[in-house]
Amino acid sequence: MLKGKVALITGSAKGIGREIALKFAKEGADVVINYRSYSENLKELENTIKSFGVDVLLVEGNVRNFEDAERMVKSCIEKFGRLDILVNNAGITRDNLVLRMKLEEFDEVLDVNLKGAFNLIKASLPIMIKQKSGRIINISSIIGIIGNVGQANYAASKAGLIGLTKSVAKEVASKNITVNAIAPGFIVTDMTDKLPEKIKEKMLDLIPLKRFGLCEDVANVALFLASDMASYITGQVINVDGGMVM
Ligand code: NAD
Repeated sequence: MLKGKVALITGSAKGIGREIALKFAKEGADVVINYRSYSENLKELENTIKSFGVDVLLVEGNVRNFEDAERMVKSCIEKFGRLDILVNNAGITRDNLVLRMKLEEFDEVLDVNLKGAFNLIKASLPIMIKQKSGRIINISSIIGIIGNVGQANYAASKAGLIGLTKSVAKEVASKNITVNAIAPGFIVTDMTDKLPEKIKEKMLDLIPLKRFGLCEDVANVALFLASDMASYITGQVINVDGGMVM
């Protein structure tokens, strides 16, 4: 489905980003894995991706910094000569009630989750415009739609991502670039592992499909949005949440 395409996925050393990278590679795309600190898992990920018969580039970088975003895109172009798909997946939580939330906790989450996506989009667009095609997929969250106690910073960043998605979608539609967002619900990753069991039980009660989501559930939708099958879809938010938000 993605043969000959090149995809850059931020924060893809683990979790949802890793699954998206693996899925894209299995479907024939060369992939750029962005990570924060090198670990043995990355070597394993690199080897697995190569076993699918595609190429892979590992780039260290902090999405918060525009210079890093530019360097990631530059490295991608130097290695592969093009960039077809950008997935803004890197994200963090710093949960706290507003009254207790430190100013830095608010800023940090906004900087990584929202400005990080802006940085990568800004750095990638000139390439996609020149190519007269591109796909941008932003990983938002249902929390950006419904809000959550203790997650004002996270909810604001993920709601912001939806506004960013729609605005950029309108700006670049005439250049044959689509921009969409995925809003996952509760997906089993390190991010949700740290939640107390009681909260997890409560969450499960709210999920009509009665199971937590898997990284693959999100990766499947990312693949669809990146593929030719989604060429007439832009500015949309697709929930992947087992029916939590309808
Ligand atoms: P995770 O913690 O397993 O992965 C997050 C990744 O982002 C890590 O690889 C981390 O190194 C990277 N990252 C963090 N800060 C970065 C930075 N400044 N620069 C570059 N990379 C950075 O979490 P996950 O659950 O796989 O989350 C992936 C995305 O999905 C996030 O945007 C998250 O908000 C979103 N999401 C997750 C869930 C869920 O239930 N797990 C639900 C909704 C949305």
